[in-house]
Amino acid sequence: SREIHLNAYLKGAPDPKYYDVVETDVPAPGAGEVLVRNLYISVDPYMRGRMSGVHTYIAPFGIGQVMDGGAVGEVIESNFDGLKPGDHVSSMHGWREAYTAPGAGLTKIDTSILPPQAFLGIAGMPGLTAYVGLKRMIDLQPGETLWMSAGAGAVGSSGIQFAKAMGATVIATAGGAEKCAFVKSLGADHVVDYKATDDLTAAITAVAPDGVDGYFENVGGTHFTAALNTLRRKGRIAACGMIQRYNDTSAATLPDNLTMMIGKSLTIRGFIVSDHADMFTDFVSDLGNWMAAGKIKPAETVMDGIENAPAAFSGLFTGQNTGKMLVKI
Ligand code: NDP
Repeated sequence: SREIHLNAYLKGAPDPKYYDVVETDVPAPGAGEVLVRNLYISVDPYMRGRMSGVHTYIAPFGIGQVMDGGAVGEVIESNFDGLKPGDHVSSMHGWREAYTAPGAGLTKIDTSILPPQAFLGIAGMPGLTAYVGLKRMIDLQPGETLWMSAGAGAVGSSGIQFAKAMGATVIATAGGAEKCAFVKSLGADHVVDYKATDDLTAAITAVAPDGVDGYFENVGGTHFTAALNTLRRKGRIAACGMIQRYNDTSAATLPDNLTMMIGKSLTIRGFIVSDHADMFTDFVSDLGNWMAAGKIKPAETVMDGIENAPAAFSGLFTGQNTGKMLVKI
């Protein structure tokens, strides 16, 4: 079985040279353990921080060791009462083809309605992130206008569909004509190709002349500046991610229009999804209802083979993915 090790902490953009594909033996399961073959593994932007060697809200990856990450797989052998061969589980044992682990640490997933890989996307961590941002950070109300940045990505594509189901008007930004057509197909009312304009404030104002009530921040930089300009009084920002700067080696500069926060009485709330696990039950219930009403479609970009996991990860920073970026094992 193969797994991916980090061989040095990253400086600047991710590159396959930082990773090794390593052959290992997967031990037979002991008491209470299961042997799982991964079907899909997840690559996510937050992993970039763990590859820098600094401790943020989560510890860095170890050099010369297999990395962790989201994965869904099939149980092959089980010595754990709660799981049997053929069951599907989600875990944090990604970046490897197979593993042995205590069954108690795995989450059994019901793949009768959604395919296993959806539990890494719209029905998993990115979906819950979109839900927490919209419901708890922005407190989005029917009839309000939401701007979803990185709209064609995993969090963005989930959030657009959730916000529509919640009765909002949705503006989505994405890079390129193809991604703009995709977010439109998900139900976005207005689409702005941020790569096709050098004045994002004007482009957002053109589609939302009365302004924006909620801004879902995934990008940072010029997007954040344009959000401060276009939010209405009492507007709310869910500060979820600022991917534009994850590979930067220079210090960040503040937007020169931060004073908008005061005059417009804006609220900005940063969050980490794992601090909001208490919303999971509501999320599953709402998602189930929206799916039953035909309002939800999962979307993903899939690369094949564990050896392509580093390239899939790099691709997040060059916009290679439409929907959730996954690696099929
Ligand atoms: P995505 O699926 O959205 O993939 C990343 C996308 O970001 C790319 O496809 C690209 O879209 C866009 N992008 C990449 N680099 C840049 C850049 N320099 N400028 C503008 N856009 C860029 O990833 P996720 O949905 O998994 O994550 C989205 C955001 O949410 C990230 O910032 C991530 O860190 C954050 N996040 C935060 C969590 C939390 O708990 N706070 C949990 C999960 C995610 P395009 O081609 O349109 O430019």
